[in-house]
Amino acid sequence: MIADLIPAGWIVAIAAVFGALIGSFLNVVIWRVPQGMSIVRPPSACPSCGKPIAWYDNIPVVSYLVLRGRCRHCGTHISARYPFVEALTAVLFGLAAWGGVDGAYAFALLPLMLYWAAIAVALTFIDLDHHRLPNVIVLPSYVVTAVLLVVASIVTGEYGRLLSAAIGAVTLGGFYFILAIARPGGMGLGDVKLAGALGMLLAWLGWATLIVGAFSAFVFGGIFGVALMIGRKATRKTAVPFGPFMLLGAAFGIWLGQPLADWYLAMTGLT
Ligand SMILES: [Zn+2]
Repeated sequence: MIADLIPAGWIVAIAAVFGALIGSFLNVVIWRVPQGMSIVRPPSACPSCGKPIAWYDNIPVVSYLVLRGRCRHCGTHISARYPFVEALTAVLFGLAAWGGVDGAYAFALLPLMLYWAAIAVALTFIDLDHHRLPNVIVLPSYVVTAVLLVVASIVTGEYGRLLSAAIGAVTLGGFYFILAIARPGGMGLGDVKLAGALGMLLAWLGWATLIVGAFSAFVFGGIFGVALMIGRKATRKTAVPFGPFMLLGAAFGIWLGQPLADWYLAMTGLT
């Protein structure tokens, strides 16, 4: 395996640097995709003075610190969200590599985890800004996830997981569909579509991953909602985008679903 050739620490570091570069691209995606703009053209420019951003002013996180958060030409303030998105993506890529280096499924699952880390960051900030999850990001995730899960099943010979993935997609997607129908204005169809793709991914990994991942979305969303109400920033009627909690819950399920299930079964004496 690659882990035998390169020390694990280096793989994590390389993944983090790669993540920072992808994060820089995600800033473009978060800004342009909801507006229906091209993500390749025109090149990045200062929104205030319109001067193109040179490559040396576009180095993830570093350029922001060197320029102290201001445009080199006009001195306008640059949002701290840009370096935050880059640093967050770097951390998520590092974690994905760390989790995937020694695992039996490293070969096929690592690219899939990196892909999901990237679209999770983009979808989270787009949902926070615009209260929607664009089809151009969510729908291709079905194809990418299905293809890479088929590869993972071929690599591991565990074809039964593909049936689990299909059941997971229908179950979680169906559950959100019922929620969206039952309470219009709560969940949207964007959430339903994202739920199907997440259900596919989580169920392939295991039933515990699916259950913990799906359930913790509501725990995180509930805690956040209560915190907002206590802080009087929101009432029961305030629309809070749910996509970020679905993605956070899924990440939680992937990391802790199986260990939590093992712990629970041991505690209750079921194993
Ligand atoms: Zn400027």
